[in-house]
Amino acid sequence: MTKREHFSGERVAQECICCASKKLNRSSAIVMPFIAKRIWGYDPVEITADWGFRDIKPGFAYSLCNSLHCLNCGVVFLDIRFTDRELSLLYEGYRDDTYTSLRELFEPGYAEKNKFFSGRAPYIEGIEAFLLERIPAPNKILDWGGDTGVNTPLLTKAKEVHVFDISGMATIDGVKAVSLDEIKQNQYDLIICSQVLEHIPYPHNILQDIVSAMSDSTILYLEVPYEEVMREFAGSPDLAQRKRHWHEHINFFSLDSMRKLVEGAGLELIEIVPNEISLGWRTAVVTSVLCRKVRV
Ligand SMILES: [Zn+2]
Repeated sequence: MTKREHFSGERVAQECICCASKKLNRSSAIVMPFIAKRIWGYDPVEITADWGFRDIKPGFAYSLCNSLHCLNCGVVFLDIRFTDRELSLLYEGYRDDTYTSLRELFEPGYAEKNKFFSGRAPYIEGIEAFLLERIPAPNKILDWGGDTGVNTPLLTKAKEVHVFDISGMATIDGVKAVSLDEIKQNQYDLIICSQVLEHIPYPHNILQDIVSAMSDSTILYLEVPYEEVMREFAGSPDLAQRKRHWHEHINFFSLDSMRKLVEGAGLELIEIVPNEISLGWRTAVVTSVLCRKVRV
């Protein structure tokens, strides 16, 4: 399963986004109002008797969707797969003033929490230690989806750090933003794709793009949130019913779904480890994955 054709790429997912299985459980859910507003311009609305409906009951209406749960690999995901245009609307100017004030409107308290996101996240130090226990210090790093580079692990250890990102934010000192063409002209010891795949409609496709930028000696470090519901109810058949709302993270990965995603993209798994981290305002767990290209 290394070709994109295994995934239909439909607007509403028809198969698992990790293993392409069609054995999916589904349950009604909503897209959170901030996301619906930012990408579609939809507001939550109260349907009242004034609307004059005959068959529709009054009440609040939000942007409806389904939660899908793959019974083969365990991933839980939003059935709506955003287009490139919608992703741009969501992530261009990520966490800038316009983004923050709109989100504060729907989610009071967000602006305060957003302060924890400025500067380098304190948990990165632990990830660097995790990496250096397993791989040699890299000379050249590519951070795929690394925003400004502020949270790139091993930033100060590497001689060169490149970032590829759609956010269009200016990179920090010492980090160079690169295009897909520039990536092809470089060879990297370490490629990082951290806190990205949970936002991406078809993670298999982005992994294939990353694989094409890897040499036989490149190590790939993937990191995704190991969400609380996935840890607490791992293996439970009713995970779709436990996930009733969708926000920025449109994919909730199980450990097995990450294994299948990696293997399906032509990668060999070196290690997969849940790592507890501190986000500043709460602790969380991430799934850390190390892999390399399958040698033929
Ligand atoms: Zn699956």
